Amino acid sequence: MTVEIAINNEKPTQALSDDLYYEPQGNEIQMFEHAYRHQLPVLIKGPTGCGKTRFIAAMAERLGRPLYTVSCHDDLTASDLVGRHLIGPDGTYWQDGPLTRAVREGGICYLDEVVEARKDTTVVLHPLADDRRILPIERTGEYLEAAPGFMLVVSYNPGYQNLIKGMKPSTRQRFMAMSFDYPKPEVEAKIVRRESQCSDDVAQQLVTLATALRNLKDHDLEEAASTRLLIYAAKLITGGIGKRQACYAAMAEPLSDDDATVVALKNVIDACVK
Ligand code: ADP
Repeated sequence: MTVEIAINNEKPTQALSDDLYYEPQGNEIQMFEHAYRHQLPVLIKGPTGCGKTRFIAAMAERLGRPLYTVSCHDDLTASDLVGRHLIGPDGTYWQDGPLTRAVREGGICYLDEVVEARKDTTVVLHPLADDRRILPIERTGEYLEAAPGFMLVVSYNPGYQNLIKGMKPSTRQRFMAMSFDYPKPEVEAKIVRRESQCSDDVAQQLVTLATALRNLKDHDLEEAASTRLLIYAAKLITGGIGKRQACYAAMAEPLSDDDATVVALKNVIDACVK
């Protein structure tokens, strides 16, 4: 059972399919299962679009835990995570936030791009992320002990901007950490094929192209071409768009606003895509 919930929404926003596909890159499934068994919080580092969110969704399904996902941003407050009093027809009532729901139900709370959240917001995680496993809720006077299945998972992309923001050492030292990267070419081709229903040949060409784009060091690219973008390109191709046009739209334009850089990316596409 996996449920994705948006903060400030009373109802789950999206139920994930029961046959969620995840292609392992190494021993991450075993590591995550160990963390779950030993009630350790997990930090996942890796570039955007490399499979972090899919991994957590697949693990929640595998472990049979409800999943509460929060995309962090700099206006996120502790109340967005923990809950707040709302006004209804019968007066005020308390509504749990996604973190509190996961704590009560023994679910997985996944904070995506946790470095985007202000540090005074992430402090609320501290007593949950060590062996106390408690969530004090000031507003209701509750002192919640996490149900046995509760697991806290955070992720971030350690790109150069985030190195400045970083995570407070006192926060990060509470997590077991795993590093993710783009999958190996043969694994990535399999993922692209499976996710887009494209041919072997298209998947192969796109992965070769992605490798060439990721090796472009002399351009000021904030992000490399992600697995997600490869899948977009493959879907466009499967839908009937020409290969180069699909790659321009999915793998050149999204990566930069700088004209010279986009031209350089298109040149690589022209060289790799026949
Ligand atoms: P992140 O959370 O790292 O930004 P996602 O988990 O959203 O990235 O991955 C982007 C997309 O790439 C997913 O929706 C999925 O289609 C695909 N993907 C990436 N890695 C894998 C994998 N190992 N197995 C299956 N699909 C994957």
